[in-house]
Amino acid sequence: MIPLNTTFFWVFLGFYLLHESVHLGLEIINYKHVKKQQDCPDFFKTKITGEVFQKSKFYTLEKIKFSITAHCAVIPFFWILVFRNGFNTFDYYAAMHGGFGTLTHSVVFCIYLAVYFGIIHLPFKLYSIFVIEEKYGFNKMTPRLFIIDLVKSIAIGSAITIPLLYLVFWFMQASGPYWWLFVWFAVTAFQLTMTIVYPALLAPLFNKFTPLQNAELKNRITKTANDIKFGLAGIFVMDGSRRSSHSNAYFAGVGKFKRIVLFDTLITRLTTDELVAVLAHEMGHYIKKHIRDFMIIASLLSLAGFYTLALLIDWPDFYKAFNVSLPSPHTALVIFAVVSEVFTFALTPILNMLSRKNEFAADRFSVEATGHKDAMKSALLKLTSDNLSNLTPHPLYSFYHYSHPTPVERALALDQVIINKSDEQREGPQT
Ligand SMILES: [Zn+2]
Repeated sequence: MIPLNTTFFWVFLGFYLLHESVHLGLEIINYKHVKKQQDCPDFFKTKITGEVFQKSKFYTLEKIKFSITAHCAVIPFFWILVFRNGFNTFDYYAAMHGGFGTLTHSVVFCIYLAVYFGIIHLPFKLYSIFVIEEKYGFNKMTPRLFIIDLVKSIAIGSAITIPLLYLVFWFMQASGPYWWLFVWFAVTAFQLTMTIVYPALLAPLFNKFTPLQNAELKNRITKTANDIKFGLAGIFVMDGSRRSSHSNAYFAGVGKFKRIVLFDTLITRLTTDELVAVLAHEMGHYIKKHIRDFMIIASLLSLAGFYTLALLIDWPDFYKAFNVSLPSPHTALVIFAVVSEVFTFALTPILNMLSRKNEFAADRFSVEATGHKDAMKSALLKLTSDNLSNLTPHPLYSFYHYSHPTPVERALALDQVIINKSDEQREGPQT
């Protein structure tokens, strides 16, 4: 029963324990660091009240405790699959219901595993929304809306992913030794299509998107976009307040399908100058090609992933290590999807480092395009305080997990932009 006879199992276990130690170690370090902060950090003292600081501290601590609990609670459910014959049992029923060796067998196996992990995570999702977010006044979701969202996302998710899975397994079985290249191509084409389809057709099934009405704001955003030659398909307001009072803005789509989406919660909190600065930051990501670069990186990583899977798929020890009795494309794909993070977690801080570099560049772009340095800083501060973000993350934790620099780092970098600009003005053009 115990797959101790394969070297691959021990290699996996070694990486697994390392990953768990890093993950849980960082959570604990961050928890202790936040807990010992008695006073609001100097940087925020004049900007954030003591009451908001205490509230953000308790919110952060509660979220860390919850994250550790939820993480530890789901660990046994993975090991049940390995040691209690979980993969084989799901495979047995998938063969029974889908017809042994058919494409449907493979797809049904994936559905069973998705349902298994979906059910395990559901109670934690409910607790996070209806207990923690509720307690700090963020949750606006009713249980009814939660159920409607869940049913809708299962229906839409199935309608999209089931045909894709059929295609993937068909390639895996029918396209010879280079199947991994075909699968990668299909998945990449699918992801590119989704970047256009999702904002235009799928997101409106969950939220209402109305074209921005506020004429002054609209003119200002359009003018900024024109100044920096940023073609825009529209500026929309999303009713984010239906679910949560957390505020945000995002940018979606590619090419001429580019659109800016503002949460209604953001519009009520920020001034026009602040909103323009935030949106110029979002446009900066596009102009500086950050979005394209990340899409290329993601697609290269998935190419490397499918190639690695192609190397593992005919290796008996790969299946033995996870107690899978009958090797097949679907067991290989699912096991690979579940365990690959254990081998690739070191990429997380590297990708986050790159992302933080891009955030600094987009902030700089925004200030240079709009001249609203103070508006950008006050917008960051408002977002930090409204969302009760962690004001004092442990540096190791933010280094590993943060895709955005901390508000302090961003504000200091923004100050630098102005110093550089005035230097340039004093000394005149260099070229
Ligand atoms: Zn950004």
